[in-house]
Amino acid sequence: MNYYNLKDKKEVVDFKTASIKGQGNQKGLFFPEIIPAFDEDFIQNLNRFSDEEIAFRCMKDFVDNEISDEDLQQIVSETISFEIPLKKITDTISVLELFHGPTLAFKDIGARFMSRCLSYFLKDENKKVTVLVATSGDTGGAVAHGFYKVPGIEVIILYPKNRVSPVQEKQLTALGENITALEVDGSFDDCQNLVKHAFSDTEINIHLFLTSANSINIARWLPQQIYYLLALKQWQKTENGNPVICVPSGNFGNICAGLLAYFRGLPADHFIAACNANDVVPHYLKTQILEPKETVATLSNAMDVGNPSNFVRILELFHHQSENLHHFVSGYSINDEDTLGTVRKVYEQYNYLLEPHGAVAYSSLETYLKEHPEKKGFILETAHPVKFPDAVEKAIGGKIKIPESLADLMKEEKKTIEINSDFEELKRFLLNKI
Ligand SMILES: *Cc1c(COP(=O)(O)O)cnc(C)c1O
Repeated sequence: MNYYNLKDKKEVVDFKTASIKGQGNQKGLFFPEIIPAFDEDFIQNLNRFSDEEIAFRCMKDFVDNEISDEDLQQIVSETISFEIPLKKITDTISVLELFHGPTLAFKDIGARFMSRCLSYFLKDENKKVTVLVATSGDTGGAVAHGFYKVPGIEVIILYPKNRVSPVQEKQLTALGENITALEVDGSFDDCQNLVKHAFSDTEINIHLFLTSANSINIARWLPQQIYYLLALKQWQKTENGNPVICVPSGNFGNICAGLLAYFRGLPADHFIAACNANDVVPHYLKTQILEPKETVATLSNAMDVGNPSNFVRILELFHHQSENLHHFVSGYSINDEDTLGTVRKVYEQYNYLLEPHGAVAYSSLETYLKEHPEKKGFILETAHPVKFPDAVEKAIGGKIKIPESLADLMKEEKKTIEINSDFEELKRFLLNKI
């Protein structure tokens, strides 16, 4: 399978190159040349296949023969080595729990697949790769765990001091070994600017082979299709008809993977992009005008994105025909008050604890189903409530229980190096690593 650069269609690369480079010329995103259809018998009868077989079939066409079947099987089974249950909450709404991985957020799935692919591609190259990544919270932990002790890979994570939650901070800083956490005296934007600066610095790039691990990398984006199939497998056991699928969205990688699976033949009735106050896409779906905005801070902060990078991939999937897109995807913007109200209501009425991102999705799906009472659907719950304890405890007016694995983690020592947001300091640190 080849991938072309959405900004420069002459740049065409294979899976390996696309996943090592991350992005193409002019920071363009890579996109598959072919949308490979699922076998009809396979997609209609998912319950005849094991989860590992489903994951393998989902990814095989994208990887081609660049990874042997045996190794790809190993990679996908490690990618989904925790439960991904679909739980029914009401007659019409179910929840796909994507937070049972090591860092309790759905980003574990993409990060695990990507790290294993990179290590596979680099193992014979005798090349040391430095993964440099800025995080506002969840990405850093997922990437750190995905690459932990992977030979040949050094991970450097930049995070804004005092601006990630205590759980997120421990997930970034307690591992050690090949993972280094830099605590930046600045904002997330400062961290991101430092990373961008490093990627364009000639001297650093002579000495270090840098790669990024953010969500625009195809090796993080594509494996997210897998859990849509695993959800359908569970759906087909108990439900008739196709589901409405509601995805809490920020950078739009997650929903874009679901839409890709739909174009390949995944049976779905409709998709909903559930957003917080950062409503660029819901606004576009209503008006057909795409206007990137300044980011607004909300309780569902992993979705605080004013200019979602993966949206261009969605436009490409729909051949830039906004009419079709508008017909098949709805968008909602939910404010913080509704978010907390939804956490509280679902907890009181159904004894089910959502966290803010899932609550944004729940509220959106509920609204859509009121207008379409004949339909049913599920939301993707992208994180565990303990990752956002302040908002959740405020909503339910009580303490939440910390799982044992997390209680142990919280006792571990935080290992960081403090830097300021001046590029020269980061540069000195990186060059000292050679
Ligand atoms: C990253 C993240 C999202 C947003 O996913 P996108 O693929 O960027 O749309 C939603 N919820 C949580 C908890 C996240 O960490």
